[in-house]
Amino acid sequence: MSFPRVAFLGLGIMGGGMARRLLGAGFPLTVYNRSPARAAELAAAGARVGATPRAAADGAEIVFSMVADDVASREIWLGADGVLADIAPGAVLVECSTLTVAWVTELAQAAAARGGELVDAPVTGSKVAAAAGELNFLVGGSAAALERIRPALAAMSRSIKHLGPAGSGARVKLVNNFVCGVQVAALAEALAWIECSGLDRAAALAVLTEGAPGSPLVKQLATRMTAPDYTPNFLLRLMTKDLGYAISEAALQGRTLVTASAALERFRAAVAAGNGEQDMAAVIEPLRKTRE
Ligand code: NAP
Repeated sequence: MSFPRVAFLGLGIMGGGMARRLLGAGFPLTVYNRSPARAAELAAAGARVGATPRAAADGAEIVFSMVADDVASREIWLGADGVLADIAPGAVLVECSTLTVAWVTELAQAAAARGGELVDAPVTGSKVAAAAGELNFLVGGSAAALERIRPALAAMSRSIKHLGPAGSGARVKLVNNFVCGVQVAALAEALAWIECSGLDRAAALAVLTEGAPGSPLVKQLATRMTAPDYTPNFLLRLMTKDLGYAISEAALQGRTLVTASAALERFRAAVAAGNGEQDMAAVIEPLRKTRE
């Protein structure tokens, strides 16, 4: 197999693990991170480091981005030193961050105007799955572009689902995280209620985790909330972002996500209480401190 030149921009909790998978699979890799220190480990492992998104993407046939939000993504692609200032003809741009459909659609148009093609490929799976190459990619874009990037996606994933044209991956990801955010907020309310009720916490919680409400997410988060262990897997402030994006996206299609708004209230309260940089399990903390 001949390996295309790849650039990877954004080396946070998810991007760091994903870039290491690409390097380990043999892709010639150049990386960029806004805070340069986060690129040091990959540089030591053999990746080249670009000083700007544009420099990192110079000559790359495939350019990945995995950053926080719409603002960060716009900076990476369209900022003063952004990738789109100078892309290789025919390059495939792969946006893996969780973003609004409106921004992804704008980005796809900007990429096409400069001779590139955008694929949106947000992921499910968290820090451990990123490091182990076990993510699930939710892909929007042309079938031809997907085939060009498939070997690179395969190095980072357990599954690749093609969901439609550009923007489709972003849309499904927001639906997915809406449901996840509501589950986490509901679990936090349930556990805080159990804790002040005089029940045996472990026994009561086991009824939930071993019964119908025990989704994989609820099981994981129940463990972290009870420990408590708020080591970031998925930052609380990023779930807050995702719920906000889901509510706005649904509203554009005339839908009101009542349960997402209630969950968002819980997540915003935790951000206001100073828990934004912790794992989303910390959404329970303000509830433990108050009785409403
Ligand atoms: P993270 O650890 O906070 O990393 C965020 C990355 O974005 C960092 O590289 C950060 O650079 C960069 N960034 C932030 N603002 C920027 C800006 N204005 N300009 C340039 N770069 C900027 O977050 P993460 O957990 O890796 O999440 C990345 C994306 O994946 C998010 O969209 C998130 O919603 C999504 N996601 C996360 C998970 C998860 O479980 N963690 C799962 C699925 C999807 P610095 O290092 O300089 O701050």
